[in-house]
Order: sequence, then C-alpha cells, then structure tokens
Amino acid sequence: MTITKISEYERDLIDLLQEECGEAVQAGSKAIRFGWNSVNPYLRPEEQKPNFELLEDELGDILAVQQFLVATGAISAERIAARAEWKRLKLIEKGYV
Ligand SMILES: [Mg+2]
Repeated sequence: MTITKISEYERDLIDLLQEECGEAVQAGSKAIRFGWNSVNPYLRPEEQKPNFELLEDELGDILAVQQFLVATGAISAERIAARAEWKRLKLIEKGYV
C-alpha cells in the first residue's frame, strides 16, 4: 500500500472541516436544549438567529469545505453521494427516521 501524504492545503481544509463539524454539533445541541426557534439572548437583536438557522448555516459551511476537499481530488463526490444514499436507506431500514 502506498502512503499518500496530505498537503498543507488539504490539512488546512481538514482543520476547517473539523471546526465546522464542531460548530454544527454546537448548533444541534442548542436546538435540543432550547428549541428550533430560540435565539441567544446574550446577542444584540440584529445578531440573533434562531437555532434552526444556525444549524443550516453550519451544515452549509460543511458542504462548502467538502466541495474544496473534493476539488483537491483527494476524496470523491460520487462516493460521498453513494454513502449518503446508503446511510439514508440504513436509517429508514433501522426505523430511526
Ligand atoms: Mg461555521
């Protein structure tokens, strides 16, 4: 097996992906704790977003980073799509959704 080292740019993208995944976890946690429409009361009104929008934002951020990772050629958009479909069917089959 050939070891393929990642480039500094790819490492930066993975750092970003980890950061965005953490932010998505936080947004999901806020939705669980306070509900979809709750906002952070410590922010100024013009800065407040409901938790569902925060989660949408973070999922979008993850997709953006995913697109840059795919563009490097290191990972495959087709495999990601196939995996998403596999997972979707698995969740249905197991009765989780
Ligand atoms: Mg983000």
